[in-house]
Amino acid sequence: MQISEIYKSLQGESTHTGLPCVFVRLTGCNLRCTWCDSEFSFSGGRKMTLQEVLAEVARLSPCECGAGAPARENLVEITGGEPMLQEREVIPLMERLLAAGYKVLLETSGERPLARVPKQVVKIVDVKCPHSGEPDTFDLENIAALEPHDELKFVLTDRTDYEFARDFVQHHHLAERVHAILFSPAFKKDASGARDTSHCLLDPEQLAQWILADDLPARLSLQIHKLIWDPAAKGV
Ligand code: SF4
Repeated sequence: MQISEIYKSLQGESTHTGLPCVFVRLTGCNLRCTWCDSEFSFSGGRKMTLQEVLAEVARLSPCECGAGAPARENLVEITGGEPMLQEREVIPLMERLLAAGYKVLLETSGERPLARVPKQVVKIVDVKCPHSGEPDTFDLENIAALEPHDELKFVLTDRTDYEFARDFVQHHHLAERVHAILFSPAFKKDASGARDTSHCLLDPEQLAQWILADDLPARLSLQIHKLIWDPAAKGV
């Protein structure tokens, strides 16, 4: 498969936020979100075999996972780009990681079919809002593929995005279907330097007020890696 990078960091935007995690970032994306912070993954990278990816994940993980079941639950996140564009290769990768005892997260836009993703994988599905530049790309048939441990994320830039996300969650009764609904203020694409929420396109305080006013079962989610490291830093 074509791999952009494999690295270890802290999981930055889900209910697993703050936990050590090995990231496998696949090359290529069929969307072009206005606030995308990983455009470097659209092309390039290098071809790696399944065995090479597994070996690199094991090398970066805190214990000898390659030799069998890990002594503790190790997190691996498959991300991109859009990893499901390489479905033929990435599903066997997820199966092998699960068999080796890893907890596997999959970050995806939900534009590609998700029904064949192994059920034990925690899907973090980034449903695109109107001002992402890629509205209506989520495949509604993927709602049937959601598992109770999955998470749905909405990256928001303004009130229009917020209302879309709120109405989408309510219309499809998603809060009852998944573990978490994440509402995340988008970060400015060109942000660098200061590690604070002034780089958010939507003020988190404003978002908090809207969530509270509507009594939404949503979790306000900040991209903590942008608050820990330089927002422009790669590999974190
Ligand atoms: S789906 Fe993800 S990787 Fe693709 S353009 Fe949107 S934010 Fe970037």
